[in-house]
Amino acid sequence: MQISFRKLELIKQHAVQVFPEECCGLLAGKRETMLNGSLENVIHEIAPCRNRAWWNRIGSFEIALSDYLDVEREAIQAGYTVIGTYHSHTDAGAFPSQQDYESAPANHTSLIVAVRSGIVADARAWIHKEQSPFAEEKIHIRL
Ligand SMILES: [Zn+2]
Repeated sequence: MQISFRKLELIKQHAVQVFPEECCGLLAGKRETMLNGSLENVIHEIAPCRNRAWWNRIGSFEIALSDYLDVEREAIQAGYTVIGTYHSHTDAGAFPSQQDYESAPANHTSLIVAVRSGIVADARAWIHKEQSPFAEEKIHIRL
């Protein structure tokens, strides 16, 4: 995945602002062919969303369907697609939980920010391939 330094910083700030609750948002962009011929997700827009989980926002997140559809419509108008989501983990690692595994659709990217005691500790991206566990998707920072 390619993401600009500034956008990744904004995601980290969102995670710190809502700590200890989990933050969440959507990632829009394109799958682009790199110079070496490989395909990579390039994030062009980030859309912070409100965590709509009603029972445990410290341990889970939920993006409202209406938020998703709004962001998807804007993304398509700009020539992008919704590539995945970002969310934070409270006092846990930046690794997908069982719940993340169950809720992420196939080919969906999950960017996870680990926040410990209110400070960002790690950020990792994961891609959920059909019929297989998450594979780590290396984050390349664009300046
Ligand atoms: Zn999670």
